[in-house]
Parts: sequence; C-alpha cells; structure tokens
Amino acid sequence: MDDKIQVFKKLVDNSNNIVFFGGAGVSTESGIPDFRSKDGLYNQKYKFPPEEILSHTFFINNTEEFYKFYKEKMNSLKYEPNITHIKLAELEKQGKLKAVITQNIDGLHQKAGSKTVYELHGSVLRNYCMKCHKFYDGEFVFKSSDVPKCTCGGIIKPDVVLYEEGLDNLIVAGSVNAIQGADMLIVAGTSLTVYPASGLINYYRGNKLVLINRDATQYDYKADLVINDSLGKVFNLI
Ligand code: ZN
Repeated sequence: MDDKIQVFKKLVDNSNNIVFFGGAGVSTESGIPDFRSKDGLYNQKYKFPPEEILSHTFFINNTEEFYKFYKEKMNSLKYEPNITHIKLAELEKQGKLKAVITQNIDGLHQKAGSKTVYELHGSVLRNYCMKCHKFYDGEFVFKSSDVPKCTCGGIIKPDVVLYEEGLDNLIVAGSVNAIQGADMLIVAGTSLTVYPASGLINYYRGNKLVLINRDATQYDYKADLVINDSLGKVFNLI
C-alpha cells in the first residue's frame, strides 16, 4: 500500500467526526462526466453554451430547449454508486463520518446509503411544480416527453441550483456547521475553484485536512495530507 494511503487510513481510523467534501471527481468513476474537465460536458458542441442553457433565465425563457439538453445530459438515474460512495456510507453507519457535502446533483451518495448529505447544488431526483409545489421524482421528469407538467398544469422545475440562482441558505449553514465540528475533513474530487468550495473549507479548524485529487490544487499548501491519485484506489484500500 502507498505510504500516503497508509497515513490516510490511520487518520480515518483515529477520527470520529469525519466530514467529506466532494466534487465532480467523486462521480466520474461511476461514469458521470465531469462538467468542467476537458472532455466533459462543458466542451461539447451545443446550440447554446451549457452555462447558458443551465441558467435561470434560459429555463424561464426557453423551457423546451432547456429540457431537451437537461434530459439528454443530466440523467443520472442509470448510474450506480462507486467504491467511494459505498465506503463513505459505511463510515457513516459506523458512526465515524458525520456528513457528506457534495457539489454533485446525481443523488449517488444517497443511493449508496448515506443519510446526512448536504447537496450544495441540489438534486436531479427532486423536482417541484412551480405553481403548486407538488413533488415529482427524477424518473417522472426524465421520462416525460417535452416539458414535464404537473397535474395542475404548472411547469415542473428540477431542484437544481441553476446559474444565476443562489444556494440554499439552510444547506450552506448545515455544511458550515458540519465542517466547523469536524475532527477530520476530506476534500476530494474537486479542483476547489468553484464557489463555494474554496470558502467552505476555510471553516475547518482541525489538523487533519486531507485533499485527494487527480491533479494538484491551489489549496494543497493548506492540507495536512495531499494524495494525487484515483479516489477509487484510495477508498478501496481503507
Ligand atoms: Zn402543480
């Protein structure tokens, strides 16, 4: 076993209030493309740039076009949790991990069995009628033809934070609270360039900050341990 992974395992073994903060890299090993990577979603050719399609204004003004893109590109129902999701759920069950904070909207942490998950950018599995707020699951939306409509006639909107929209204050507060109380903070699969990732990890006060990422990040100097490796490999060994 790599020395660094050995150190990581020891830190995990000796911690009882672990918080995991994850980005797109956590889901890429399940086959979900990373939005911002070179070959990810954001570099594919579309009539409009994805940042524009996935904005609040675009959703309101071009709902049909939005849903064409959304249903083709954002459907995570067919994907399964990978070893990282599964190990995190196990650590929570053992009482060692207190929360997962994720920038992903695919619901894979819950699918793996995690209970306390702060989804900063929402989830494609939750959708609400804009008129009467009735709930609809992901399947309903992804399987609908055209724009998904509620029984009341209202348009259904995914509970996903679009560009121009603010984060849910309660979810941010919960994340801050979890990080402040953590004895160990694992930050993984994120380059930490996307708001609010970089700001949130500043709330950590402990001395077991571990960064796991394929490439170096600008926060490496703050970390107590940096592992530049595949997440699946690391979590498989703990
Ligand atoms: Zn309705």
